[in-house]
Amino acid sequence: MLTNSRRIRPTWLAGLAAFVALATLHGGAQAPADVQKAVDAAFAKYRNLQEGKNADYIPALAKVDPKLFGITVITNDGKVYAAGDQTTQVSIQSISKVFTMAQVIAEQGPDAISKRIGVDATGARFNSIIAVEAVKTVVGTGAPEMNPLVNPGAISATSMVTGANADAVWKKIIGAHNDYAGRSLTVLQDVYKSESDTNQRNQAIGALMLAYGYIKSNWPQAVDLYTRQCSIGVNTKDLATMAATLANGGKNPVTGKQVISTNYVPNVLAVMATAGLYDDSGKWLYATGLPAKSGVGGGIIAVSPGKFGIAVISPPLDDAGNSVRAQRAIADISNALGGNPLASKPR
Ligand code: GLN
Repeated sequence: MLTNSRRIRPTWLAGLAAFVALATLHGGAQAPADVQKAVDAAFAKYRNLQEGKNADYIPALAKVDPKLFGITVITNDGKVYAAGDQTTQVSIQSISKVFTMAQVIAEQGPDAISKRIGVDATGARFNSIIAVEAVKTVVGTGAPEMNPLVNPGAISATSMVTGANADAVWKKIIGAHNDYAGRSLTVLQDVYKSESDTNQRNQAIGALMLAYGYIKSNWPQAVDLYTRQCSIGVNTKDLATMAATLANGGKNPVTGKQVISTNYVPNVLAVMATAGLYDDSGKWLYATGLPAKSGVGGGIIAVSPGKFGIAVISPPLDDAGNSVRAQRAIADISNALGGNPLASKPR
């Protein structure tokens, strides 16, 4: 018996090694201990980091606890790895732009977005009006140079979700967010009210987008629904599930629901890679290779296609409007797990 098993073992081991190599090559499941270790290490490393400042141009955001810090990774097999706060909700803010854009793509196909709004970086801040002015001359030529992840493009994308009235459009927008998150989300009313009272700049952007042909009618409804979608409450697990759905070909790995056609996921991820962290998107891609999206509520989601979705919440932001600790923690974890989709090994 002993002799036999000794003889068999090398073959068995070689088989196992080949399987592991293949699984890694094809983005197979990460070893659970490694994922949890990477999450714990990033949490410990950045727990006391105090750089950055809460957004305060929306008064309710200034009141959120800056110490709040939570990390969640969800792998494509639906396993959840977490550290820190998993229950406190923050407003989703600009991360919602991804899922409203995805809803328009799901309904009308990828060309609807690229033709009406564009999929190019603006190189400007997320609420830049100069950027709107700079690209307005090309509207109507079939090549607008904006994208749905900056405010002007996002308000336009919200206006493109079809529905007989504001309620019908809202049902679709919140329904899409619910499907990606795998639970029924609700609007944080204090944030919605605070932003509605102070969003004159976004109203100006909405009016300009109508004037320049990106929005076809009723810009006040588009701005209001956009403000509502930005106020949806989410915790890190919600955000990680949303990211993991995009990492898993559009199928929510926790609920098993196919939320968007697998064919459209690369379109969504491409815009995230181009513009997800605003004018710092290039730096981010250089460091991680990950399509990602930030929100001024302090959340960031990132997607390692075929492998995992990750989310971090930490409210203090840098000058570009991106969470400081979220960027650092996600970069560390993804790089530790080989999450960079642009990396390859020579054969
Ligand atoms: N609701 C915010 C705004 O319109 C979203 C901005 C963000 O998260 N970058 O200004």
